[in-house]
Amino acid sequence: MGNCPFCKQRVDIKEVKTEERGKGFIEKEKMYICPHCEAILGFAMKMR
Ligand SMILES: [Zn+2]
Repeated sequence: MGNCPFCKQRVDIKEVKTEERGKGFIEKEKMYICPHCEAILGFAMKMR
């Protein structure tokens, strides 16, 4: 996945924290959180 832009530590996709936020039955938002500094690295939208 690369390095965290906030704490500059290496972030592995297996270590990254994810949090899912359901906004109804169709949309789901996924947050990627750095395991070191807990900064939000990005969002992903699942539209299905
Ligand atoms: Zn970080």
